[in-house]
Amino acid sequence: MAEKLLGSIEAGGTKFVCGVGTDDLTIVNRVSFPTTTPAETMKLVIDYFKQFDLKAIGVGSFGPIDIHQDSATYGFITTTPKLAWENFDFIGALKKYFDIPIAWTTDVNAAAYGEYVAGSAQGLASCVYYTIGTGIGGGAIQEGQFIEGFSHPEMGHMIVKKHPKDTFVGNCPFHQDCLEGMAAGPAIEKRAGQKGQELPADHVAWAMEAYYIAQAVYNTTLLLSPDVMILGGGVMQQPQLLPKIRFEFEKMLKNYVKTPLLEEYIVTPKLGNDAGTIGCLALARKTAI
Ligand code: ADP
Ligand code: ZN
Repeated sequence: MAEKLLGSIEAGGTKFVCGVGTDDLTIVNRVSFPTTTPAETMKLVIDYFKQFDLKAIGVGSFGPIDIHQDSATYGFITTTPKLAWENFDFIGALKKYFDIPIAWTTDVNAAAYGEYVAGSAQGLASCVYYTIGTGIGGGAIQEGQFIEGFSHPEMGHMIVKKHPKDTFVGNCPFHQDCLEGMAAGPAIEKRAGQKGQELPADHVAWAMEAYYIAQAVYNTTLLLSPDVMILGGGVMQQPQLLPKIRFEFEKMLKNYVKTPLLEEYIVTPKLGNDAGTIGCLALARKTAI
């Protein structure tokens, strides 16, 4: 009999990436669907997975989400600004068709887990992963466990100090000038009047971007002292950013603590765009045991 497969769902605000893989975390097949309404998108997801013989599914979802197993709304997307998905029973919708173990966490936790088991944090005890894209999110892992309490972390909404030359007011719908409001892709675009992809490498926007992301790295370093800080998401595809972030971080830290070598401490995801899928597969594998 053929080996049963693991399923992976990266549920993002613009697209859902679904895939299947094997126990050694090899991705066998992967597809992408636009995020529209739960009825439309989930039908595509369910029809996709019906083609395979699955033993477990790992889901990394945009949020906020309810992660408490004993809560009446466990497995729901909760207070998301994407109104069609507010209070959507994600795990319930899957369980109707797939009576198998389903792991449930945030999209950024899933990517962090991928890097932890098979990427930049492989072999280390802990890591923090930030994604800097349409939004900013962060997740932390310690000895294979996500750090969480009453809910999952929302590191993207930390308060940051304004860059002295920055006149942009910020665009987080909740806090205006939090980290996400100042440094996510849409903030770069609103401030400069052009998408990040189109800005020259020496544009002042990148100095500001590095200043904000370095503050996230600084705060996280002092809060958690992780073994490695992994920075992913579309914005980090700008190669000039990483050295600028390390430089700003060093300036802020003033040698207060001795971190690992910065070239090894502040890094981009080794798995690149596969971090989320591999993380979801690994979470599925863990829940299947
Ligand atoms: P999402 O967060 O929607 O999953 P991305 O991580 O690609 O997707 O983030 C999209 C945001 O990142 C957009 O605001 C886009 O302008 C910005 N972005 C994507 N690629 C780049 C790039 N190469 N350089 C700068 N900004 C980018
Ligand atoms: Zn915010």
